[in-house]
Amino acid sequence: MQKPEKNFILTIDGPSGAGKSTVSKKIAARLNLSYIDTGAMYRCVAWAAREAGLDVTCESSLQTLLQNLKIRFQASNENNLVFCNEHEVTSAIRSPEIDALASAVSSVACVRKALLPLQRAAAQYNPAIIDGRDAGTVIFPHADLKIYLDADLATRAKRRFAEQKLNTENAEIDLKSVTEAIANRDQADSSRSEAPLRKAEDAIFVDTANLDIEGVSQLIIDLYKARFNG
Ligand code: C5P
Repeated sequence: MQKPEKNFILTIDGPSGAGKSTVSKKIAARLNLSYIDTGAMYRCVAWAAREAGLDVTCESSLQTLLQNLKIRFQASNENNLVFCNEHEVTSAIRSPEIDALASAVSSVACVRKALLPLQRAAAQYNPAIIDGRDAGTVIFPHADLKIYLDADLATRAKRRFAEQKLNTENAEIDLKSVTEAIANRDQADSSRSEAPLRKAEDAIFVDTANLDIEGVSQLIIDLYKARFNG
């Protein structure tokens, strides 16, 4: 499909395992939009803090870390590569440990403040799809189309479990601990005072529990076409 001329902004928010990143990547490829993974930015902060042996709840240590932090994305055929301080961290930032640390750093005010301009700048020149928790409420409150994806906890946990089995050699992973970890992240992400996870009033709610990836993607593409051409 031809690239839209207007700088169209499509936001996709929702909790872990709702299908945001898989669906966003598919839609970005089909509609020729840039894909901006804001969660990967929080994951990079968590990864760098762990490398430096920092306490992820200590605002002053994180503030210093953020001053020299470099996050870079590189499009590749297979995957979107993520670099943090020039280390390729694409897989390293997907571990269960970084899941929890990313959620912890994301509630620290100075971290959100530092990442916000990077997230906005990433969508400055190209029509883009922004995947996050606060994409439609804080990053782009005037986005052209806002989607909120959700599914029940058991469905989301099963998806994350399958994903982690595929991406890690950690034999310790089991469905019960993945379910608990997701429930903890849901609770932390939605109850924090800084940019909590919530559906923007003008976002369209999509329950993905009974839809496959293709079904959710097509539904959003139809909404996009209606909005963009309308
Ligand atoms: O989406 P992903 O699971 O990669 O995000 C990792 C963590 O980063 C989330 O659990 C959430 O705490 C945080 N996050 C956020 N705001 C965003 C994107 C992610 O707080 N826009």
